[in-house]
Amino acid sequence: MAIIHRPTLHFAVLACLALACLALACLALACSAGAPALAREGGIRIVYAVPKDAAHEPLYRSLRDKRVLERIRDRLVGLRLPRVLTLTVKGCDGEVDASYEASDTTLTICYEYLAYIQDLGRSIPPAGVAEGLTPANYIVGPFLEVVLHELAHAIFDLKKVPILGREEDAADQVAAYTLLRLGKDEARRVIASVAVMYASEAKEAPPELKDFANEHSLPAQRFYNLMCIAYGSDRKTFGDFVEKGYLPAERAKLCEEEYRQVKYAFDRLVMPHLTEAGTPSR
Ligand SMILES: [Zn+2]
Repeated sequence: MAIIHRPTLHFAVLACLALACLALACLALACSAGAPALAREGGIRIVYAVPKDAAHEPLYRSLRDKRVLERIRDRLVGLRLPRVLTLTVKGCDGEVDASYEASDTTLTICYEYLAYIQDLGRSIPPAGVAEGLTPANYIVGPFLEVVLHELAHAIFDLKKVPILGREEDAADQVAAYTLLRLGKDEARRVIASVAVMYASEAKEAPPELKDFANEHSLPAQRFYNLMCIAYGSDRKTFGDFVEKGYLPAERAKLCEEEYRQVKYAFDRLVMPHLTEAGTPSR
């Protein structure tokens, strides 16, 4: 049995997200041009919410003027959703967050989260510098990852995709698997930038007991999970993750199988919803 892979969404999405991220990278340079603040097309509604916090005004204007969300939407043409998906950037009252809300089918990226990743790009940790990450591509990785993670939640919900294990881990896996389809060099940069972000978060403070109750895995676990799926996908491109001691050899032994499991689940459960035809051929 084989699924015919048309020009599939995840490749198209990534191409577009790269464009979107170029635009996001532009934020630091205060790029500007004219564009409407609200658009609706192809089942995805876009809303650039006027920020409540004046500090987010430059972000709002840059995202809107560079049409970052429209660029994402334009590449989601292969995704047939049963309901309109709202894709929005908005202020979240100080919460550094991004979310998918099933009740109103809304994918939200908070200005606070975008400001957070902008700040990351201003102070790249030594491990990121060693990877050759620039401020621009250090921003791209976390931005791509968060959009794909939230889009995974939306697909799980709207397409009723069965999930074993925790949904947050599953969304991380879909995002990581998709990022790894970018092509070796880009995938390496993107995976490295997200991993460096998790490593930085893991060092911020030791976890408290209540942190283990969070629906998300801890930053250190997300770091190792990401390292593992990357290494499992390509032991050559990501082999130094083990050699440098980022990924323990004991875990590394399992990563090829972990990657295979994610690929199998993605191909069976997600890919059929991402084809232009909307239904798989077997
Ligand atoms: Zn999530």
